Amino acid sequence: PTSRRAGLVALGALAAAPWLGGCARTPEPRVIQGRTMGTTWAVRAGELPRGLGADTLRAEVEAVLDDVNAEMSTFRDDSLITRFNRAPPGTVFAVSPHLAAVLDVALAMAADSRGAYDVTVGPLVNVWGFGPEGRRSEPPPAAAVEAARARMGWQRLRFDAAARTLTQDGGIYLDLSSIAKGHAVDRVAEHLRARGLRDALVDIGGDMRALGQRPDGQRWRIAIERPLPGTREIHTVIGPADMALATSGSYRNFFASRGRAYSHIIDPRTSAPVRHEHISVSVLHPLCVHADALATALTVLGPDEGLAFAVARDLPVLILLRDGERIVTRASPAFSRLFG
Ligand code: ADP
Ligand code: MG
Repeated sequence: PTSRRAGLVALGALAAAPWLGGCARTPEPRVIQGRTMGTTWAVRAGELPRGLGADTLRAEVEAVLDDVNAEMSTFRDDSLITRFNRAPPGTVFAVSPHLAAVLDVALAMAADSRGAYDVTVGPLVNVWGFGPEGRRSEPPPAAAVEAARARMGWQRLRFDAAARTLTQDGGIYLDLSSIAKGHAVDRVAEHLRARGLRDALVDIGGDMRALGQRPDGQRWRIAIERPLPGTREIHTVIGPADMALATSGSYRNFFASRGRAYSHIIDPRTSAPVRHEHISVSVLHPLCVHADALATALTVLGPDEGLAFAVARDLPVLILLRDGERIVTRASPAFSRLFG
């Protein structure tokens, strides 16, 4: 189990883990790793460029991650997003080009999913016990849910993309936990490229991006786990080339009360955790920021609507559902074309 206080996200779900198979003689990738966003990060790579040591690279990756958290973590009191969330109405914040790009993706996703995905969901995440304010073991009172609900709405977010400013409208609480990890993966990948690494696998808590290939010339391999609470069984292993993969699911971070599981993924249309209890949604995209937002959005939409959404946009998506003891697989045509 990972610390839920330390980072952006409230769980340590490793729904997808790098799978390092291969025979003994093949060169194994080196691994540089650490902790961030309430979970772990790892960079796997072959030979590092001349003059770049593993310790230097680790410190540089940590600086990139710190930069992301300083702006986007709701688990940090001093982050820009926390200051925005606590500011009085009318307060204007200048945001970096990075945060502006993340908000662009988040708002487009909100519009495209008709509000199933909504980064103003923070007050609901908090009352259901999945935010920085701490955990719950039973559903919150209806009045608290109603009060949180009243503060939500992505259309109310006063974000000026051209001026790169964010204005607090009063009571708006942004929660970027569904997208900041994916963005951070992209930032680390960009940094590695800028440092001359062409071949690497970046992993933050199961959100991944593959660059180039493994040292043995094979594709990087990523395992997708079965959506079963308390186990780490591999369902399938894929080898994406120069793509990102993000997985969301309702099966790891939840509390159980009176025979029901309450997940950290909230359906803004009902103000409650998603109802389907054991599902995982894996999405591939060139950029991890998109894969991450999409995986969360499709989890909210659920297996039927979510798959239809993926098919209509020709997105490579794998949905795993639990049906009693069986795992039911639903792959979009784009996923089957890549890995069928
Ligand atoms: P992970 O916890 O692995 O990062 P996700 O990327 O799916 O999983 O992000 C889940 C987090 O997103 C939740 O913990 C919560 O903070 C936030 N969230 C919950 N419901 C929504 C939603 N409908 N739209 C956007 N963000 C959400
Ligand atoms: Mg996500």
